Amino acid sequence: MKITDQPHSFTGKVGIVGAGIAGLSAAIRAAVAGAEVHVFEQNTYTGGKLTAFDQEGYRFDAGPSLFTLPHLVDELFKLAGRDPKQYFDYHVHDEVCRYFWQDGTRITMYPETKRNVEAVSNVFGKTEGNKIQSYFDKAREKYDLTAPFFLEGSLHRMKTFLTKDVLNVIAAIPSLGLFSTLNDYNESIFTEPKLVQLFNRYATYNGSSPYLTPGIMQMITHLEHGLGTYLPKGGMHEISQSLTRLAEDLGVKFHLGARVESVLAKGKQVTGLQVGEEQHSFDAVFINSDVKHAYAHLIPSTVKRPKKTLKQEPSSSALIFYWGVGASFEELDLHNIFFSNDYKREFDAIQNNREFWKDPTIYVNITSKLEPGDAPEGKENWFVMINVPADSGQNWSEIIPKARQEIFSKLSEHLGRDISKIIENESVLDPLLIEKKTSSVSGALYGTSSNDRMAAFLRHPNKKTDCKGLYFCGGSAHPGGGVPLCLLSGKIATQWWLDDVR
Ligand code: FAD
Repeated sequence: MKITDQPHSFTGKVGIVGAGIAGLSAAIRAAVAGAEVHVFEQNTYTGGKLTAFDQEGYRFDAGPSLFTLPHLVDELFKLAGRDPKQYFDYHVHDEVCRYFWQDGTRITMYPETKRNVEAVSNVFGKTEGNKIQSYFDKAREKYDLTAPFFLEGSLHRMKTFLTKDVLNVIAAIPSLGLFSTLNDYNESIFTEPKLVQLFNRYATYNGSSPYLTPGIMQMITHLEHGLGTYLPKGGMHEISQSLTRLAEDLGVKFHLGARVESVLAKGKQVTGLQVGEEQHSFDAVFINSDVKHAYAHLIPSTVKRPKKTLKQEPSSSALIFYWGVGASFEELDLHNIFFSNDYKREFDAIQNNREFWKDPTIYVNITSKLEPGDAPEGKENWFVMINVPADSGQNWSEIIPKARQEIFSKLSEHLGRDISKIIENESVLDPLLIEKKTSSVSGALYGTSSNDRMAAFLRHPNKKTDCKGLYFCGGSAHPGGGVPLCLLSGKIATQWWLDDVR
């Protein structure tokens, strides 16, 4: 009999702390395996960072805006024996991003290498264009080689190390770029500084600095350029909402507005959760909240602290302006980047000095380009984000107006129009609010940074091996932050749990 065919009593009762994307992934997998699943979420909505809101006729996704690897969402519907299309659908987008520099240079990149060779040749010359094919080939090679090991399995289980994938990874170590930085790697390929900057940007996909994170992170470019970019129909929010609907259909019980106070344990065995005045018994508990939050507030002091892991530096955070813009701009697409003049100094400010950089790189995401219903006709919903350090006591109420002014002046110059005059409404999200809404310590977007080449090994494992029944999933646990990795995190944690109950 397969484990999924077992009756409830075999897999028991599972409690999940948090309805973020990894918590939803774990809840669905545990329910499919036959467990009685209860998800406790302190907010009155599911999705964690992956949420949305309406603002005077405009709709905004509050958190993630870039969607890759949609098969990881589809996989959950298929696992439950459902047709993904009945719950969740997405646009396949034909552009990766439009890039703008202050000297007027612009380039659009695509999810097709041939078009990128052409685009780069046209803007930066044939010599640079000719390097594009091998750059993306290398990125694919690194991704294909390391993803099964670093992303799809646990780095804390012996069985991961007993596969032939590991031998391949070991053999390839000298060429993976583990011992140089992403910037060094990109500089060794391209002579055009703007291309180095463009490909350095991929370090921010896990909240790191290209001047610190290892060259292996080049593989992130393969996600968009090789595997494509997508936007869920109905917006990013549909990822969490369709998974919530699936979980409910599978019998998962969501307790919303229910803050978990502590994990209950008897000796080295988890026994349940304390939620307000109530105690709930569980055979296993999955922690989807930030790992640092969990050790500071939830996990009994009798459980050993992973000191090195808790000392890891947080990933960067973000400052986001959600603007209802009373005009539309043909030169903009779904994803747009307006680069700073000095990337190195920008990252020094964010990662080393932990301060706001006065000439920030600006990301503008406009879902109404693909989802016209997200803004009134002839208008656009702008999600305008800059990278900032995780909170360490900066004065955000002073930084926000400075950043707004800087963004106004830069975008107005690029687009030839006074942006401040056409903004109809605004909301702002800063690191303090991110922490308040999701308990992500310091407002880090992706848990811990990948600035250290050992970061992958120092992230929290998906199971606390010295406390029976305690599992971890989410951006601050293995394999890290971002929607696809969080979906995988829920998968790796539940696989481990299933192996344990077997
Ligand atoms: P979280 O979303 O962190 O949710 C954890 C949940 O646990 C929360 O709902 C919280 O309320 C709940 N919780 C915590 N403690 C308790 C408790 N004690 N009791 C009950 N509930 C509790 N990723 C991408 O892939 N692409 C992007 O473009 C992208 N952009 C981003 C932009 C922004 C502004 C932000 C904030 C994030 C972005 N990310 C992006 C990162 C991505 O959103 C996260 O990595 C991912 O959503 C985190 O999911 P998670 O499962 O770790 O849970």
